This record gives sequence, structure tokens and C-alpha cells, in this order.
Amino acid sequence: MKRPLLEAIKERTLLGDGAMGTQLMFAGLEQGACGELWNLTHPERVLAIQRRYAEAGSDCILTNTFGGSRIMLNRHGNADNVVEINRAAVAIARQAFGGRDGYVIGDIGPFGGLMEPYGDFTEQQVGEAFNEQARALVDAGVDAIIIETQTSLEELLLGIVAAREAEASCVIGSMAYDVTRDGSTFRTMMGVDPERAAEFMQEHGADIVALNCGTGMDMERARQAVLRYREATDLPVMVQPNAGQPKLVNLQVVYDETPEQMSQGVVPLLEAGAAIIGACCGSTPDHIRQFKVSMEAWYENQTVRR
Ligand SMILES: [Zn+2]
Repeated sequence: MKRPLLEAIKERTLLGDGAMGTQLMFAGLEQGACGELWNLTHPERVLAIQRRYAEAGSDCILTNTFGGSRIMLNRHGNADNVVEINRAAVAIARQAFGGRDGYVIGDIGPFGGLMEPYGDFTEQQVGEAFNEQARALVDAGVDAIIIETQTSLEELLLGIVAAREAEASCVIGSMAYDVTRDGSTFRTMMGVDPERAAEFMQEHGADIVALNCGTGMDMERARQAVLRYREATDLPVMVQPNAGQPKLVNLQVVYDETPEQMSQGVVPLLEAGAAIIGACCGSTPDHIRQFKVSMEAWYENQTVRR
């Protein structure tokens, strides 16, 4: 029987997966189209991507449901399929492990707008959308829920509450930080710094504090975030930095860090105490495979030293 995720990370650091959005584009998803609908219309393409991550060594795979809340799906006219889309996503991610023990993490991204008084959505609307998605993911059997790419504590809280009410066995809150213009620190677009986020998450019942994406948040910045999180909380830490900086090449956004470059940051992250290491925008199965090599070598070394 598989150990719960929160037990497994006590023993060793787990490997996450890499980007989904950019991989869907490579597989033919058009800019602006609904990638989550592919869980129903092109499940084999989603599966092929996640299978490559599983084969590269991912212990954890995020479901293809970043935009799988009613509010996000509604923009594409798919609000009637919230439950089906989320349920299918969990089955696909599970299938990607091919029978091997792995952790399926149900992904909830931002609802994609602003709440009152800054925007048009009420807290209740967003809360209901998150509740519905979290419930669908938990009912389909996820091992954890991640509320990711969050910039405001108000929205993050709605996600945490939704995951808790759905009785998710592990709740991960993940913030997107931007490096400040002078390069001295990083905080979210809404001005939240890592210490505040970590304390807030601990206070509101998250099990793991995380970061993903953001501007300028490379492996070294992720390491700094791990240290700052660990100063502020005793919860385990998960990181999913981008593959360096986005650049526009032939009208396409490409990220500039190769698997070799990015994987240089894996050991420092292990030494900083990260519990789950994955990657965000621009990363590929090749990046994850290289992470795995670095991680294995480090553990090998630890055993020898002991
Ligand atoms: Zn990203």
C-alpha cells in the first residue's frame, strides 16, 4: 500500500513534474484554446505528456486542471463539464504512472480575475468555483491538492478552504513571486512576501508551502525562498521554478535554461531542505530527467558519507 504523500516526504525529497501549458502547445493546442478540455477530447495527448514525465522520474504529477474551475472553463463555454474535465484529468494522471506508485496532485490555478472591490467577482462566486473543483478532484482520488500561481492571500485562502472542505488528504499552497526591479528581494504581484505567505498558510491549515512560476524566479531564487519559508514555518516546502527567463524567438516564447543548466540548482535546493522539487514554465521531461540524475547522485553521496 502506498504511503500518504506527507509521510513519503519525511523520508526523502520527491521529484515533481515540469510544465504542462508549453507541452500542450507543442502537442498542437492553439494559443488561447482550452487545454483542460483536452482531458475529454484528446486524453491520449495529455497522457503522452504526463507519461513522459513519469518516465523521466516524476514521483508527483499535477493534473491538467490549472484552468479547471467553473469560472475559467466558462470563458471557453465549457462550464457544464467541470466535473467531467476534472475527473478525467485525475484518471489520466494516474494512468501516466503505469501502475507504479506515484502521487497525483490535483491542480487548482487562479480563477483568472479580480475579486471585489477591485474586480467583478464576489468572494462567494470564487469560493463556490473552487469548492466544486476541489470536490471533483478529491472524489476522483487525488493524493493532494495544490492551489498554485497565487498572488493574493484572499484568493489563496478560498482555495485552501475549498480543499480542506473537500477533505483533501494534503493541501499545498503555492505562490508566484516576482523578483523586484532592484533585484534585492521577491514578492507577489499583490505585495505578499514569502514569510507572510508561509505564516498565513500554516495558520489556515495548509500542509505544504510552495512557490511556482513568477518573474525572475529561477533555481537560485527558489533556494532563497525555501530558506525564507523554513525560517517562517516548519511546514514542508515544495518548489516549481521556471526554466529561466522567457525570451521571444520567432514570435514564440521560449525559456532559456537547458536541462543541464537548470539541474545545477537541484543539489542546492536539496541542501536547503526542499521536500518536493519540480519545475514550471518552459521546463520539459528532459529537465525533469536531469533533475532525477542530480537528485540520485546526491542521495548516493549521502549514503556513502554515512
Ligand atoms: Zn509557470
